[in-house]
Amino acid sequence: MSDIEEHRKKIEEITLEMIKLLKTRTDIAKQIGDAKASLGMTVTDEEREDALRTQVTKLCKEIDLDQSTALKFLNLLLNESVKVQSDNKQTHLSVFLKAKALEEEGKKIIHLEVGEPDFKPPEEVKTALVEVYDKGYGKYGPAKGITELRKALATKEKCSEENIMICPGARFAVYLAITTLLNPGDEIIVIEPAWPAYKDCALNAGIKVRTIKTTLETRWEPSIEQIHNAINQNTKMIVLNYPNNPTGKVLPIELEDSIIQTAREHDLYVLSDEIYSEYFGLDCKDSIINYNYEKSIVTKSFSKSHAMTGYRIGWVIAEPSIIEKISKLQALSLTNVSEPIQYAALQALEADVSGNTEIINSRLEALIKIAKDIGLEFVEPDGAMYLFAKTKYKDFDATKFSEKLLEHGVAIAPGEGFGDYKEFFRITAIDETRLKEGMIILDAILKETA
Ligand code: PMP
Repeated sequence: MSDIEEHRKKIEEITLEMIKLLKTRTDIAKQIGDAKASLGMTVTDEEREDALRTQVTKLCKEIDLDQSTALKFLNLLLNESVKVQSDNKQTHLSVFLKAKALEEEGKKIIHLEVGEPDFKPPEEVKTALVEVYDKGYGKYGPAKGITELRKALATKEKCSEENIMICPGARFAVYLAITTLLNPGDEIIVIEPAWPAYKDCALNAGIKVRTIKTTLETRWEPSIEQIHNAINQNTKMIVLNYPNNPTGKVLPIELEDSIIQTAREHDLYVLSDEIYSEYFGLDCKDSIINYNYEKSIVTKSFSKSHAMTGYRIGWVIAEPSIIEKISKLQALSLTNVSEPIQYAALQALEADVSGNTEIINSRLEALIKIAKDIGLEFVEPDGAMYLFAKTKYKDFDATKFSEKLLEHGVAIAPGEGFGDYKEFFRITAIDETRLKEGMIILDAILKETA
């Protein structure tokens, strides 16, 4: 047998052996996942993972193997474990789907779990939808969006239209940014509690998530040390979301400065999801974009500010080179955002939506007052449309509580959907009458449970 043939045979044997090991590894990971779930433990153990990383680095030195490649491979394996162990997590979405099924059976549900404004989009949208047919919007268009809308958003955001791309909602923008800018085995930092999609998009793309846990005691603020400790040579992106879903937190400006400074030092992308900025009365001058950091990507949407969740339209602000990259995946996956909807969004920009901010703020105030009256523990939200709270009871299981509450016609979002927060739950600030009704039931069931 020639040398080449011999080496080929060896590689094939090693590959087959690796596949067998992978099967055993997946089976064991599943068993560990089941055991952790029954003990109420979290899926990811960062300390344990760090220890494994140190061992891999040591081994690389001993056997003279490139560390970065080995650590990427380790990340892929760790990700597979997280995936097989994360199947049965309860999120606001899973509760929403259960609530919807109950409604179909004829039950009345008060929805305190979804993040959806319950008022109508501006009248301008209605007029636009009538006009759209005659105006001829309805063809294939440019992947980055129609020029009129990109220009209008550029004026609003005080940037160039080259910095803007239209997307079918901020969710898809987040997906595009994570999937196109990062590679499998890279790492992303997510500050928890967090909207679950950042983590899920990364997991889906083989990207390792490093979570930073913040607490109610530290007012949901991460420390710069926590961020430094989470960065290694594979770290490529940090996600920020302020005002935050679920806590409503807005970071102090000095902390934000330090985070951007750290990102610059380590050449990290900063994905800043600013979908709730208008509910805080923030405008473009308060955006991360003002740091002029060339690796920042800001995601925004018409969903909350203009109550247009079902229209599926949002936008990204970034350097043209980033827009170029992410627009390629958008072109590949959906050609372009529906033209009639882009036209409706263009007209929606003419509307004064400051009234929506006022409505949300007054609902939040009402929610804060009721929550205080019934003795919930929380940090008062700065913005967004939620309250993230726990009860005074020790070892409270908010997932079980939300299941029980749903049987009594009230849906809330269990904290475990936002990270390691089993004691917490998120309540959406809906219209005051329904909110009061829901909170009375919540209080009654809470007293019954305790
Ligand atoms: N980001 C955050 C933080 C959200 O809460 C949501 C929706 N709840 C989104 C993005 C998705 O928004 P869109 O409807 O624009 O996709």
